[in-house]
Parts: sequence; C-alpha cells; structure tokens
Amino acid sequence: MVVGVLALQGSFNEHIAVLKRLGVKNVQIRKPEQLQNVTSLIIPGGESTTMAKLAEYHNLFPALREFVKMGKPVWGTCAGLIFLANKATGQKNGGQELTGGLDCTVHRNFFGSQIQSFETELPIPEIAAKEGGPPSCRAVFIRAPAIIEVGPDVKVLADIPVSSAVTANSSPAIQSEEELTKSEKKVIVAVKQGNLLATAFHPELTADTRWHSYFLKMEPETEDGTSAIASTSSVDLTFTGRAMIDLPIFQ
Ligand code: GLN
Repeated sequence: MVVGVLALQGSFNEHIAVLKRLGVKNVQIRKPEQLQNVTSLIIPGGESTTMAKLAEYHNLFPALREFVKMGKPVWGTCAGLIFLANKATGQKNGGQELTGGLDCTVHRNFFGSQIQSFETELPIPEIAAKEGGPPSCRAVFIRAPAIIEVGPDVKVLADIPVSSAVTANSSPAIQSEEELTKSEKKVIVAVKQGNLLATAFHPELTADTRWHSYFLKMEPETEDGTSAIASTSSVDLTFTGRAMIDLPIFQ
C-alpha cells in the first residue's frame, strides 16, 4: 500500500506526519503520472480555489478524475471535500474546477470566515464502532465547508447542529430561520460513498488517528460496486488511544 497525498498547497505535511506515525508508505503528488504508483489518495485542506488553480496548471484534473473513477480510495479533507463534491456553492467569481465524484452539494465557507473557525467534540458512531475508542472525536473546523445535500448512495458519518456554531457566528450561509428548519438545524460534515471519504474538518491536526486508519482500511471498488482486494494486510492499524498529547482546545 502506498498512499498519495496531493501536495500542491495546504495541510499535506500534516497528513504525511500521521501516515508516517502509522508506518504507512506515502508519496507527495504534484504531477499526474505520480498517481499511477499509489493505491489511494488524500486531498488535503487548504484553499480550494488556489489548489484548483495549481491542479489546473499541472494538468492534474484528468488524472484525478480517472483515479476517482477507477474506484481507488480517495479522502478529501476540507478543501479536499470541496474538490470531490459534484456541486459547490459559495465559490469565488468564475467558480473553480472540481474533481467531482461525490454525489453531494457542498457550501464552500458554510461556517463563515477564517475568524469563525472553531473546534468541537464531534460524535462519530460509525468510526467508533469500526475503530474503537471514544464515541466522539475532537474536530477542528477552519473556515470550513459543510455538505448541504447528499444523494442516495452517500452515507452520513457525522453531522453537527448548526445553531451552536453557525448562528452564533451569524454565518452568511444561513440567512433565515426557514433555511435552518429546512436543514433540520444540522449540517453534514463527514460522508462516505463507495471509495470516497470526505470530512469538512481536519483530523490530521489532532492526535486521534482513527479517521486515517478508517480510510486506510477502505478497499478499492470495482465497477459493479463490489470491493476488490484488501490492501492493508501488512499494516497494523489498531487504535491505541490518544498516544500524542493534543494542544488545549481553542473555543
Ligand atoms: N473553505 C475553504 C476553501 O474554500 C477550505 C478551508 C480548509 O480547507 N480549511 O477552500
């Protein structure tokens, strides 16, 4: 297993640090041909417009789309989630290119601007059931997107009440009580659809490695939706608790 990490901009080094701690081989991806040598891919957080411009400059989009289509596991965190979404709102003028594949609509800056970034304890029933450990994880949202619509094949792994985070920050994304009711006062912040995993927050910035090990256990999907060979047999990904000490929580 060799995990590629898109290394154009953003928090790719932080993902690589976690992979190293887990003893997983990794390659920084900056050119399309490098994707041929990896079994899965992480698209990190950062600034999705800048990242998309760099990806375009390096002619990466066709290879990224092909990689997604081949059914290889891909995980997008934050800006990476925006990359994977079939549809994004709140983009800069002129929009930006997306890799697509994930049947959802994402709002690019749902939680507001940079200073409205926040951290929260996020319930993660599916991850805790599969990986063990506590029923929630510390989740860091940095000028974070949120998923406002999902297709039928998308499995929701985590959602968050918007009243506490968004209305307190008076985000421009939520303008009326009616809109809040429509979204049942919750927005989706983590999903899985076949070979695709996406999180609106940054697991690579905390000591909890369960999102990484969950991703590393994901198997490639074949055309008919069944999974192909398991790829993690040589890596021990058992959750060993919070081995590293986290920084204090910023409220
Ligand atoms: N909202 C940001 C964007 O549009 C993403 C923020 C992040 O990746 N931390 O790119």
